Amino acid sequence: MSSTWHILGAGSLGSLWACRLARAGKAVRLILRDQRRLASYQAAGGLTLVEQDHSAHFAIPAETDDFGGPIHRLLVACKAYDAAPAVARLAPRLAEGAELILLQNGLGSQDEVAEQVPHARCIFASSTEGAFREEDWRVRFAGHGFNWLGDPLNPAAPEWFDDLHQAGIPAEWSVDILTRLWRKLALNCAINPLTVLHDCQNGGLLGHLGEVSALCEELAELLRRCGQPKAAEELGEEVERVILATAANYSSMYQDVRNARRTEVHYLLGHACRSAARHGLHLAQLEHLRQRLVENLQARGLPSD
Ligand code: NAP
Repeated sequence: MSSTWHILGAGSLGSLWACRLARAGKAVRLILRDQRRLASYQAAGGLTLVEQDHSAHFAIPAETDDFGGPIHRLLVACKAYDAAPAVARLAPRLAEGAELILLQNGLGSQDEVAEQVPHARCIFASSTEGAFREEDWRVRFAGHGFNWLGDPLNPAAPEWFDDLHQAGIPAEWSVDILTRLWRKLALNCAINPLTVLHDCQNGGLLGHLGEVSALCEELAELLRRCGQPKAAEELGEEVERVILATAANYSSMYQDVRNARRTEVHYLLGHACRSAARHGLHLAQLEHLRQRLVENLQARGLPSD
């Protein structure tokens, strides 16, 4: 089986992973959206990774999805709403026994991807690393963090897992990856939409702790009903700790809205509300939050799902 890392989407996280793997001597190929993006990439001559005041250039080979050999290992680094359509276009190139690593935030996109490629192994990831694009093909590593990877259908770690350590990508194999993803989703639901609605940094929510705490109670009830009691433990306390520790930060949803970019709300608060409905749970605060957010996004002309 080929050991090449194909990376679908050379945005912030995709480039961060690609550069570190290439730096460690791993075979890496980027898959870009179309000929226009490929020409732009080729004109730049590669990816640049910026860490503090040091930048390094990596001439990683790239191709479009319709051209190239079989793919055995694919890191899916698109936004959650792009992941399934992007993987569907690549499906004919996936080799027997191919493995996909899904970096998307939230829940729901992983199942959408898995439906497109029923014979591939889908490994879910939860990342607290931070990166952003300073410009096309130039990415800043902005926040050190950690990555948990796991497969809800198969507890065995893949044989390539050590590549990550060799590349300096902090990662651990997790047998309860769904618990991690649910917990992160709940933290996101309790913080991010309110920062948009109150137009504030995370710390601004210290003035709205009653609202935050009511949401946490409903989110904890949802997690327990979804078979995730561990993800519900002391949720309110952790949310307050995160708000304090990140008081000066703007949430990712706030930044998306500020920059008139589509948010991943469908896979975050939207997923929570759909799961509640599926379980026949009436969660008034959470549904009201979704309604207000939808109205806010629509008023800005942004997609509301
Ligand atoms: P991003 O910077 O917007 O990058 C997404 C990339 O996907 C873009 O380069 C885009 O191409 C590409 N893409 C979309 N459709 C494609 C297709 N059909 N074929 C090829 N490429 C395609 O997004 P990101 O910030 O890296 O986020 C990716 C995921 O990681 C999200 O779910 C996010 O929530 C999660 N995450 C991000 C961070 C972070 O710090 N950035 C941290 C934790 C989790 P174009 O360049 O052509 O638009």
